[in-house]
Amino acid sequence: MANHFHCTACGKCCYGQLPLTCKDAFANAVIFPLCFVWTPLRYGSKDYALVATLGTTIKLADRKELAVLIVPTAYLPSSFPCPALGDDNLCTIHLSKPSRCKTMPFYPYREERYQSELLTPRQGWACDTSTVAPLVFQDKKIVFRDDFDQERQELQAQVPILRGYAEYMLKYSPSLVNSLVQASSKVKAGHVVTSLSSFLTATKNPEAKQIAQLQLPILNNYVAKTAGDTRLADFHKNYLNWSKEMAYLSQRP
Ligand code: SF4
Ligand code: SF4
Repeated sequence: MANHFHCTACGKCCYGQLPLTCKDAFANAVIFPLCFVWTPLRYGSKDYALVATLGTTIKLADRKELAVLIVPTAYLPSSFPCPALGDDNLCTIHLSKPSRCKTMPFYPYREERYQSELLTPRQGWACDTSTVAPLVFQDKKIVFRDDFDQERQELQAQVPILRGYAEYMLKYSPSLVNSLVQASSKVKAGHVVTSLSSFLTATKNPEAKQIAQLQLPILNNYVAKTAGDTRLADFHKNYLNWSKEMAYLSQRP
């Protein structure tokens, strides 16, 4: 089976949450409101082994196990455009855009043989999948693979730091396990979010204060943008809490 794909730069996929590598998250701390999204998978789920390799595994009391992806994320409601999307629907940081955007529509947390499933555009997306477009997937392999391999390598390299973060959070926020178990029982990819400040603290990041100073105005902006909209109440509450945490971190000696 062969698949063709060409991005016509319609900008329609540049809305909502954007998964990032740690490197891309910190490089864009002045643009994106950041957090960590934990997505649990039950044993036996498709992509379980890959998620366990790129994330972590958590033993449960009943001798079962969850694989959990922990992903630095630009945290945006699905109706909100990426802050780097220009009025002309083009990316204003195209030359330095995150690995996630370079690899689109392929997704590194999915086994390569299943990547063709991601080449069907969602409703409203203007991706060209006609045979005129370049051949991008054949014989269960990605054809032009430099960006995909680069993103996978970045994700593999950051596994130790994310596992250290997971250990810290499970030690100091034991209720997180229950939240992950609940999220794993949802039919459609449940998740749990944790703050950037918890990551900066857990990993003793030497740049924590500077990163907090960059994040504070971004978070305050999204506090204002989501105020008064009941559909965005969860986002608003998170932005507000994270803003307070960043205010504290940014004033630390
Ligand atoms: S960084 Fe650029 S390509 Fe990536 S989601 Fe934002 S606007 Fe789109
Ligand atoms: S929706 Fe498709 S065509 Fe539009 S920007 Fe995204 S990848 Fe490109």
